[in-house]
Amino acid sequence: MKLLEERICKEGIVLPGNVLKVDMFLNHQIDVKLIAEMGKEFYRIFSNEHITKILTVEASGIPIACAAAAFFDVPVVFAKKGQRKNMGPDFYTAEVFSFTKGSEYTMHVSKSYLSAADRVLIIDDFLANGAALTGLTDILGQSGASLAGVGIAIEKVFQGGGDKFRSRGIPISSLAMIASMDNGEIVFRRNDCY
Ligand code: 5GP
Repeated sequence: MKLLEERICKEGIVLPGNVLKVDMFLNHQIDVKLIAEMGKEFYRIFSNEHITKILTVEASGIPIACAAAAFFDVPVVFAKKGQRKNMGPDFYTAEVFSFTKGSEYTMHVSKSYLSAADRVLIIDDFLANGAALTGLTDILGQSGASLAGVGIAIEKVFQGGGDKFRSRGIPISSLAMIASMDNGEIVFRRNDCY
């Protein structure tokens, strides 16, 4: 998605450890019009999939998921993050290692909001090694819901998470695919910076 790639080029900052900082439009301050365009694009890609729910994880997946949900006219369910391993019988849970924080957390979703009747689109802000996506698909598996596809704002292709899922036949659409960020230079898989 050209609009997103342009913003990344203009405002993204490459931090040590292969972390891309996009706080100015996605992770802290939010450009609502840009997010709405991203939601529209996910709707264009997945509109024939009979989606009943969008699943994401707090915090930065939520605005993107909400933007998409407005087009699909379905609810958003977001996995909450906590430290307590035993959440009791009312929750689906998954242990996830956070790439940016360098620590583990428990992702949890109430059983009230996800069931075998659901057909789910997973949305998140970043896909790197695939740990967050592994947690979300694990929770989906526990619920019995079917996975229609995955929509990602920014995929860091060089970290390999996306290809791991694609090789299992899971449809992933990423709006910006970063091939490399060596020496602070962002190179997209299809295009260089505009
Ligand atoms: P993964 O679990 O695929 O390794 O990483 C995905 C999660 O880590 C995302 O939910 C996102 O919050 C965070 N993340 C991974 N890489 C980056 C990055 O380069 N920049 C930012 N801002 N977040 C990232």
